[in-house]
Amino acid sequence: MSARRIGIMGGTFDPIHHGHLVAASEVQARFDLDEVVFVPTGQPYQKGRVSPAEDRYLMTVIATASNPRFHVSRVDIDRDGPTYTIDTLRDMRSVYGADASLFFITGADALNRILSWRDALEMLAAAHFVGVTRPGFELTDDHLPEDSVTLVEVPAMAISSTACRDRVAAGEPVWYLVPDGVVQYINKRGLYRGSGNVTPV
Ligand code: ATP
Ligand code: MG
Repeated sequence: MSARRIGIMGGTFDPIHHGHLVAASEVQARFDLDEVVFVPTGQPYQKGRVSPAEDRYLMTVIATASNPRFHVSRVDIDRDGPTYTIDTLRDMRSVYGADASLFFITGADALNRILSWRDALEMLAAAHFVGVTRPGFELTDDHLPEDSVTLVEVPAMAISSTACRDRVAAGEPVWYLVPDGVVQYINKRGLYRGSGNVTPV
């Protein structure tokens, strides 16, 4: 069996939306990935309060269930303490083995801030990074080590989890911004209803 090619899509997924899914699908096809693993964060250290990890995990499972190449990992939500991507990559490496090629997918906004992440240079060496376009953000690798990242244009989806939360709080629909099952899950659990919504990052 040749070495596996694994995409990793980290995120808070509060909630997961079609911007995440289109980015993952596009990179899967472009890089001929065997699978893309969505990894919901535990406690994100650069964000304020977020919805319970179990709700974010289940929404991610619901959203990805129909794609045979999409999977969801609990490594970050099951690890104690704040989530650092360097730990995610170490865990993924031990799951998939030394031979696997790991591709960590980030939107342009995340890529712009990536040098502020813990052990950034070690992290950039632990996987190949794929930066994808996101409306409203410039996609550049000028600040990053040579050959550590590939920039990819994906279909523009002007959707953010923050906007989804705000819409639910305001009683506005999120149909077609997130998968149908995620709309139903948000309603079933009463997520994002009141004030005290989480802050965007
Ligand atoms: P929030 O508004 O809560 O920060 P978000 O929509 O930015 O939510 P995250 O969970 O923070 O979603 O993002 C996870 C990853 O997905 C990041 O790398 C982010 O850049 C990327 N991403 C999110 N939305 C899009 C989008 N519409 N297009 C491309 N990439 C995206
Ligand atoms: Mg974000």
